[in-house]
Amino acid sequence: MSAQRQGMPGATRVCPHCKATILESASVCPACRHHLRFDSDANALAAKRFSPLRVEGSIRHPPSDGAWEYSMVLSIKNDRGEEITRQVVGVGALFSGEERTFTLSVEAFEAVGYKAAGKGRLRR
Ligand SMILES: [Zn+2]
Repeated sequence: MSAQRQGMPGATRVCPHCKATILESASVCPACRHHLRFDSDANALAAKRFSPLRVEGSIRHPPSDGAWEYSMVLSIKNDRGEEITRQVVGVGALFSGEERTFTLSVEAFEAVGYKAAGKGRLRR
């Protein structure tokens, strides 16, 4: 992950509750869902939030004596196909007849007060 300057779209900080790296502009931590700010812009930001990608699927271990171990791996690539982050989100085991549902969602919102100055300023 590349560091974005403070105040720029993509700038990050650490959630004081769960220590996840989150957007500086976030009013609610997307990881632990704690409220971080109660400024007047919070409601306006929430209204402009949208989810351009959401994928959900389930896997079920068939009835048997065996078990599966699993790792949920998340990867983000830029428009050149270069992997910019790769993380193991969770690991676990599935036994006979058990099911797990995995959900990936990308939350997005308009960066407040940002206008590209010209070509080459747009970032992933
Ligand atoms: Zn948090």
